[in-house]
Amino acid sequence: MTTVFEKIANREIPSDIIHEDDLCFVIWDIAPKAPVHLLIIPRKPLENLMAATEGDVSLLGHLLWIAHKMGEKYGENGYRVVINNGKSAGQIVPHMHMHLLAGNDANEL
Ligand code: AMP
Repeated sequence: MTTVFEKIANREIPSDIIHEDDLCFVIWDIAPKAPVHLLIIPRKPLENLMAATEGDVSLLGHLLWIAHKMGEKYGENGYRVVINNGKSAGQIVPHMHMHLLAGNDANEL
C-alpha cells in the first residue's frame, strides 16, 4: 500500500520538505499539535518501529541524528520525539515516522 508519505517522497503530493537526504526527509505536520510539529520520515517504507530489524539499526540512528539536527534548528528550548507504533498506539499512517514537537503545547500529543 502506498502511503501519503511515499507519495510526498515521490513528489506525487506537494509538501514543504525542509530536509532531505538519502535515507529520510522532514516535513511540517499538516495538522500541528504544537507550535513546531515536524515529521521525520525514512524513505524506506517500514510500517513502524515494530517492523524494523537489526539491519535497520543505522537507519534508526540516522533518524535520531536528524531529530537532533532539527531540534537544534527548530526545537527552541527543548522538544519531544514521539513514534506511534500500531493503531492501538494512535498510528494513523502505516509508514514509520517520528514526530518532533516543540513549543508551548508540545506535551499534548
Ligand atoms: P500518526 O498518528 O503517528 O500516524 O501521525 C500521522 C501524522 O501525519 C499526523 O500527525 C497527520 O497530521 C500527519 N499527516 C497526514 N497527512 C499529511 C500530509 N499530507 N502532510 C503532512 N502531514 C500529514
